[in-house]
Amino acid sequence: MNVSNVIPFLAVVLLISCQTDIFQELEKVQPSEPQYNKVDERLWLYFERFENEADTRGLSIDLNTHNTTGEIEQISEDDVAGTCQYGTHINHVTVDIKFWNNSSELLREFVVFHELGHCVLERDHEESSFDNGICRSIMRSGLEECYDAYNAQNRTYYLDELFSTVGNLSDGESVIL
Ligand SMILES: [Zn+2]
Repeated sequence: MNVSNVIPFLAVVLLISCQTDIFQELEKVQPSEPQYNKVDERLWLYFERFENEADTRGLSIDLNTHNTTGEIEQISEDDVAGTCQYGTHINHVTVDIKFWNNSSELLREFVVFHELGHCVLERDHEESSFDNGICRSIMRSGLEECYDAYNAQNRTYYLDELFSTVGNLSDGESVIL
């Protein structure tokens, strides 16, 4: 074998090696979670939980089939943690980036579930409270006087309440908060 034959042979071997590495990398980064179309990956965990919590309460919800989309970005209105754009052709959740970065996992869940309550369960706001001033629902607007108590202890109650009511939102309404 002379030199002119050796160099192309080496080049081919190197090329194959590189391609093998790329395939291995692709396999490694395959996510184990289901993929939601046009949804920020940071929201996937909460979207999946929402489907699972609905399922345990007898509601079959597939957010991909529902074409629910979601993003995390700056919301210009003050003190607004999330919004739902809801209508015939849109079900879009936005969570404010500043709120997201400063919130616990439970608080993030609270806001994502609240917005999915509008966008997917088609729920309107529910402002009622218990005698001690605690909000009866995570669908409260935040503009009334009740206090939130969404914690590990009360979570099951609030999710039971969330999924117990569907479809009292007017069609085409956009909901802030
Ligand atoms: Zn709301």
